[in-house]
Amino acid sequence: MRKWLSLGLALVAVVLVAAAVRFFVITPERIDRGQNKVQRVAVDITPAAQALQATLDVADMHADSLLWKRDLIVRSDRGHIDLPRLIEGHYALQVFSSVTKSPKGQNYDANGADTDTITNLAIIDLQPPRTWFSLLQRSLWHAEKLHGFAEQSGGRLRVITTPSDIDRLLADRKSGATVVGGMLSIEGLQNIEGNIGNLDVLYAAGFRMAGLAHFFDNDVAGSMHGVAKGGLTPLGRQVVQRMEAKGMIVDLAHASHATVAEVLAMATRPVVSSHGGVQATCKVNRNLTDDEVRGVARTGGVVGIGFWQGAVCSLDPRNVARAIAHVRDLVGIDHVGLGSDFDGSTTTGFDASEIAAVTQALLSSGFSEDDIRKIMGGNVLRVLRAGIAAKG
Ligand SMILES: [Zn+2]
Repeated sequence: MRKWLSLGLALVAVVLVAAAVRFFVITPERIDRGQNKVQRVAVDITPAAQALQATLDVADMHADSLLWKRDLIVRSDRGHIDLPRLIEGHYALQVFSSVTKSPKGQNYDANGADTDTITNLAIIDLQPPRTWFSLLQRSLWHAEKLHGFAEQSGGRLRVITTPSDIDRLLADRKSGATVVGGMLSIEGLQNIEGNIGNLDVLYAAGFRMAGLAHFFDNDVAGSMHGVAKGGLTPLGRQVVQRMEAKGMIVDLAHASHATVAEVLAMATRPVVSSHGGVQATCKVNRNLTDDEVRGVARTGGVVGIGFWQGAVCSLDPRNVARAIAHVRDLVGIDHVGLGSDFDGSTTTGFDASEIAAVTQALLSSGFSEDDIRKIMGGNVLRVLRAGIAAKG
């Protein structure tokens, strides 16, 4: 009798372990696939666009690829970005963001700070337990992931932290090397956990850009999608000054109108809006007003145009070109670039390997080759290079 009982228990244990293994392997993949989709928009890439693409140094200011359990060194059939797809798209640099907290039922209108879906993800993905309940540790883990991918890449992925890193990257690419730069950014400074000293910890881990708030108001700044949507807090003002002193670029994406106005009023260095659209071509609350676009340009900064519905009101790359044309008409060609939000729980019309769709849309809209070179990477590389220099 006892023998049968222990055999039965052993069988139950085996079934449970098998179910757990299945759960922790399959579920992260299913979540990634469900959150980051491509609904392909048919685009004919002309030989002229293809030839131009092959000479570009593409640079993009925002992707959330580090949030998911995906090996970015090998080509994947899910999501939008991995190293092979960046290489195929002729990318010189991709900014990889760290998302640390997302409210349940996340929306553009109003979210409180009392719920979080990233905690579940951290556990299901079997991230190190130190990341389960610390937002700072989640960002440090994302930084470790990018550094780890770079180490495994055989020199094809390089983490960028200084202006001379950018110079060397571009020089190496010019002499024929296959190499892509990755720069770390932060989506919402709730991850400093109220302690400005943690900004130094994040800088030391390689972070060189940060958005002040993400989908909810935090102790640094008001979010466009928060409840109060206020401006900078006293801590937030200190944070902006400290970022400028260190050479960390201030990102206005997701900030409330009050926060945008207050940052623009105090900025002494170029600021960016890393990913989004403009109200003039897509009237969604998260997109920039004409005044805000002028404000970013006045700092010498750049506006990154996104590829998803909320940014350009379509998945069609021609709508990306329309938003870019608007920024050009408003403030000139030097202040507009790419901010895809690839892998940011978005659906897009193409992935990183198919970024020539945007080049094609720009060519078809009458942009010159020189202007396309600036839009597809030149402007972003110029602003990042200036923004990460230590203050002289
Ligand atoms: Zn975002």
